[in-house]
Amino acid sequence: MTPFRALVIDKKDETQSVGIRPLDPSELMEGNVLVRVTHSTVNYKDGLALTGKAPVVRRFPMVPGIDFAGIVEESDDPTFKKGDAVLLNGWGTGETHLGAYADYSRVKADWLIRLPQGLNAAEAMAIGTAGYTAMLAVMALEHHGMTPDRGAAIVTGAAGGVGSVAISLLAKAGWHVIASTGRVSEADYLKSLGASEVIDRAELSGPAKPLAKERWAAGVDSVGSTTLANLIAATRYGGAIAACGLAQGMDLPTSVAPFILRGVSLLGIDSVMCPRAKRADAWTRLARDLDRAALAKMTTMIGFGDIQKAAADIMAGQIRGRVVVDMAK
Ligand code: NDP
Repeated sequence: MTPFRALVIDKKDETQSVGIRPLDPSELMEGNVLVRVTHSTVNYKDGLALTGKAPVVRRFPMVPGIDFAGIVEESDDPTFKKGDAVLLNGWGTGETHLGAYADYSRVKADWLIRLPQGLNAAEAMAIGTAGYTAMLAVMALEHHGMTPDRGAAIVTGAAGGVGSVAISLLAKAGWHVIASTGRVSEADYLKSLGASEVIDRAELSGPAKPLAKERWAAGVDSVGSTTLANLIAATRYGGAIAACGLAQGMDLPTSVAPFILRGVSLLGIDSVMCPRAKRADAWTRLARDLDRAALAKMTTMIGFGDIQKAAADIMAGQIRGRVVVDMAK
């Protein structure tokens, strides 16, 4: 095997540099399956890694990229054989293990999932970690017994990746979806995904009272901080909010009042170390339930050379929905 293209983050004297360079196969890390990456995506976490805004990368040099879809090139594991179509999310790829933004990635077989029937590689990455996390959030709400007859569902960071997929999934499941966004100019887009109402995120971004008027029964939050505190304060009796992100901040300035006076639940969502069986369920559900027309509406295709710009754009809150990296483009 000859050297291949890779986007590499390096760090010298506390200064991070990013560039495309040939990667020698001997530089790949341990793993029993070699995958030829055909598609990847740019998630918020990839934006953090590439811009160095948060210490996502914990090994240098690093090939960032937390998820990919591709074709098995070599396998020492009986589960996969050459030619199998697979996808991967998380498990530390792009953080501690060389990740997706290269023509090849060597990973553990346990980290891979077969491409679900009914999804091609580009669609799988249009969903990507953001969409799979939205599915985990919806599954957590369902597992908690939340059903659309209990009231509305709020989705924050609505025009982003997690938000866009969450709106589509919740609307398809029959929820009255309230989309909270800083981009009210995207109201038509959000309604086309299934939102019934669109509100300005400024309504929810200030300091939260311990309890507020009950407005929704459920929610998917990718924003954190005072927004999540406001969501919890306005959740109906017995309702639940799935917390999966920190686009506004990592803090959570709330009180115990909603939990002990209204029996509200806060459900934590982690996609990175999520057990394999639950991942497989989430991907099967995505292949079955996610509206393909909605997925197409939220997707922008870019080439390998455009990843760094997309990373800066996602940090600036300028990406609508999802970005797919076509490695052949
Ligand atoms: P995106 O950038 O696509 O979406 C984030 C959205 O949040 C933006 O589009 C914007 O939506 C909103 N937003 C941005 N900045 C602020 C702010 N200061 N205050 C309020 N809202 C803001 O990112 P993703 O959808 O890929 O990820 C969303 C979050 O979820 C990230 O924090 C990410 O780290 C986290 N995440 C967590 C995972 C997990 O395993 N728990 C997995 C995947 C993602 P709008 O313009 O509509 O207001």
